[in-house]
Amino acid sequence: MTISILNIGGHPKDAIMYAGGTMAKHIINGDRVCTLTPTHGLSHHGRGIDEYKNTGKADLGVLIEERKQELFEAAAELGVTDVRFLGYDDEIVLPKEEIIKDIADVIGEVRPDIIITHWPEDTVAAHGNATKMTFLAMEAASGIRSDRPYAPHSPKQVFFHATQGRTNLVENARPSNPTTVIDITDVIHKKANAMNKFVSQFYGGDSPLQRKLSEAVDGSQQAIHMKVPYAESFIAFNPELYQLLPLSEYGLEIAKKSEPEGYEYLTQMLLDPD
Ligand SMILES: [Zn+2]
Repeated sequence: MTISILNIGGHPKDAIMYAGGTMAKHIINGDRVCTLTPTHGLSHHGRGIDEYKNTGKADLGVLIEERKQELFEAAAELGVTDVRFLGYDDEIVLPKEEIIKDIADVIGEVRPDIIITHWPEDTVAAHGNATKMTFLAMEAASGIRSDRPYAPHSPKQVFFHATQGRTNLVENARPSNPTTVIDITDVIHKKANAMNKFVSQFYGGDSPLQRKLSEAVDGSQQAIHMKVPYAESFIAFNPELYQLLPLSEYGLEIAKKSEPEGYEYLTQMLLDPD
């Protein structure tokens, strides 16, 4: 069975940072994967901000194009060729009807079985509002849209990123406890190469940022508890129906590893420079 996945990130980098490894694995599995970002991310063009601060000017069109190219190149590293860069301004990200309609169009066209998006309580405005817009778009896409060519469609599941957007009181008070953890160890280098395309965000081959964040975020407490080197964590929105209680194959296998074997596997630092 192949499935269709739509991965939505508020800024161009987000869908890859939080779920890039999972996308790469679904591509290998033969699934359809589309990634979408509503905003062009100009207001968070790291290098552009410095240029603007120091000189009072910057070629905004060039900076937007740079962010778009980075996303397409990063997605290509994961094998994802269906990239929707909607290009809306991210100065103040609010749920806007035109953006919601665009997302609904993509849902109607791509017909995802699964949507991945940010945790609704994520306090980064572009993240939390991307989720709000996604839910409004899902509702629109599930009904009759007389002016659009798409038949109604309802995704079966939504997975939220379980990674905090910011570490603050609001997010700490509403913890995003994962229900679903994906082992991305076998594709971590693909994700590393993808993240290093975001030079505007201070990534790149000559920057330690990618390695630091991959070890801290993908090699997180969740990965440690699952006894894998790198993992991405999600929270399922809907309960799922089974005929019997589910248990992953890995859950059964891990119990067979000796303690030293388990720790040796867990502590692989695959992103260490040679
Ligand atoms: Zn973001």
